Amino acid sequence: MEKMKALVKAKKEPGLWIEEVPVPEPDHDEVLIRIQRTAICGTDVHIYNWDEWSQTTIPVPMHIGHEFVGVIEEVGSTVKGFKHGDLVSGEGHLVCGHCRNCLAGRRHLCMRTSGVGVNRPGAFAEYLVIPVTNVWYCDASIPLDVIACFDPLGNAVHTALSFDILGEDVLVTGAGPIGCMAVAVARHAGARHIVVTDVNPYRLKLAEAAGASMTVEVGKDDLSEVKEQLGMKEGFDVAMEMSGSPAALTTILENMCHGGKIALLGILTKTSDFDWNKVIFNGLTLKGIYGREMFETWYKMSSMIQSGLNIEPLITHRFHYTEFEEGFRVMASGMSGKVILNWD
Ligand code: NAD
Ligand code: ZN
Repeated sequence: MEKMKALVKAKKEPGLWIEEVPVPEPDHDEVLIRIQRTAICGTDVHIYNWDEWSQTTIPVPMHIGHEFVGVIEEVGSTVKGFKHGDLVSGEGHLVCGHCRNCLAGRRHLCMRTSGVGVNRPGAFAEYLVIPVTNVWYCDASIPLDVIACFDPLGNAVHTALSFDILGEDVLVTGAGPIGCMAVAVARHAGARHIVVTDVNPYRLKLAEAAGASMTVEVGKDDLSEVKEQLGMKEGFDVAMEMSGSPAALTTILENMCHGGKIALLGILTKTSDFDWNKVIFNGLTLKGIYGREMFETWYKMSSMIQSGLNIEPLITHRFHYTEFEEGFRVMASGMSGKVILNWD
């Protein structure tokens, strides 16, 4: 059996290990992809750190990773529409294909998803196998590092395009990589003012580079003053919660205009408590966002990049995969945007 290098969760303890594992073999409806670039996700950092969620979710041993770009090496016997050498990325959520939403074409709402690099072997490896239904054909004029970020960019696009933002005032809480990408998308999609909050000044600088009108350092700056400086008379029309902080969601609820729309991507703690009467009396709409729409989000992000959306300033670090420890260290420090690992 042929072997390949992979970043393996080899032990039930913090860390990842470069190990040799068998090259996966594609089933009849799957493709084998030779990985060129991967990006590190916050989820990978959780798995690296071996937090409570990882301990109950991740099989050991298994190699992880789900943000990738590569070329097709081999296709299964019944695969149509893809061939050796095609440049591809892919959707990391595998859907069941049988539930009501899957059958209706709303695959992002599948009730039985499983995740590449979470529930099955991932993309931090020289080769990856996924079903052909999860493969996204890529425009080769887009830089590889950018395509490697399509999974989190897709989270940002799904969130940012959930409500009409043309000419609207938008509040983004959390200027992590996904929050910053959402700022870039909101700017591209024609929002008026985009105000971004974070506790981390490094991240707020990235948000400015992405197109924020003004930023608010939580605990230091005053959001009401920022609204006044921008000449805002009521509240934000649309908000995107991208931090997972209950305090940030409280800030959102207190600063929406009546009838405002809130998209929630950040993963909150189970015990978070809010003033739900703000939602009721102010007629707010809340929408939870999970993953990406298959494949409308992928279409939109590709076409927005082709029409000038630029997320390259948000890619701050690049390493060879053998230097992955440094990549994870910089991600965990909060002093980074997206971090790329090169597998060439
Ligand atoms: P990240 O952790 O890099 O960024 C979160 C940011 O929020 C950080 O910059 C942090 O400093 C900031 N923050 C912390 N407390 C804050 C506060 N009180 N106010 C404002 N900002 C605050 O995460 P990311 O990779 O950019 O992802 C964003 C969120 O989305 C995370 O919660 C992640 O778990 C979640 N996520 C959800 C999905 C989904 O499908 N729903 C997919 C990917 C990520
Ligand atoms: Zn389903």
